[in-house]
Amino acid sequence: MNFYVLTLFPDMITQGMNTSITGRAIAKGVLNLEAINIRDFAYNKHQKVDDYPYGGGAGMLMQAEPVYLSYESIVKRVGKRPRVVYLTPQGRVFNQKMAREMALEEEIVFLCGHYEGIDERVLEEIVTDYVSIGDYVLTGGELPAMVMMDSISRMVPGVLNNQESGETESFAGNLLEYPQYSRPEEWHGKKVPEVLLSGHHENVAKWRREQAIVRTLKNRPDLLKEADLTNKEWNFIRQLKKQWKEEQEEAL
Ligand code: SAM
Repeated sequence: MNFYVLTLFPDMITQGMNTSITGRAIAKGVLNLEAINIRDFAYNKHQKVDDYPYGGGAGMLMQAEPVYLSYESIVKRVGKRPRVVYLTPQGRVFNQKMAREMALEEEIVFLCGHYEGIDERVLEEIVTDYVSIGDYVLTGGELPAMVMMDSISRMVPGVLNNQESGETESFAGNLLEYPQYSRPEEWHGKKVPEVLLSGHHENVAKWRREQAIVRTLKNRPDLLKEADLTNKEWNFIRQLKKQWKEEQEEAL
């Protein structure tokens, strides 16, 4: 997987990504990361990349030409026009499904805005995906690009030591992950659930699946609409809801 990041702050990207799991994957060559400084494509005296927005208003806007030329420099090298993700609070909100789908690409270009954003005309010309990481406004697209690259990377074979963990954790099958425990068996008077100490794989798997459903119903019931559930599991959910309602009524 080749990540290209168009940014005014390349150090922020390389420092963030060359750490821990993504750093190891880059060192192994499973991931390839290039942070390209848009300023290197500003051919004016002070390498200026921003200007006032027409029509007035607060702040500065990144100009079209340096962004365009920085993208074209990638096109020239790779010999095709890779998918371009513009990080923007106006985009589709990123999720695990999008991460999984994007992990199938060979190249992705991330375009990071700064100041008040980027001249619309270059966005119309090069951007294929408008993606937000949530309903809040950040100062730049660098952190969102890193969030996306981090989660996409985990879906790329060879990045995680244990690929299974990427497939069983939260959002797999649209369920949240079950609770997990490590040593010691008892901590602050709280014991590890007996079934996890039993060594009975089938029972452990059953318990984990139930816990994943319980967690999702409690914390993110909206996910259940698209979860892969059997009829038996839907019955379990109905039972749980009934039980919780009765408990609430009793507590009143
Ligand atoms: N004026 C823009 C607007 O209202 O849509 C916001 C500009 S923001 C201050 C600067 C840059 O940060 C954006 O161009 C974008 O690249 C990035 N950014 C800010 N919030 C973001 C979010 N929630 N998701 C993805 N990118 C974001």
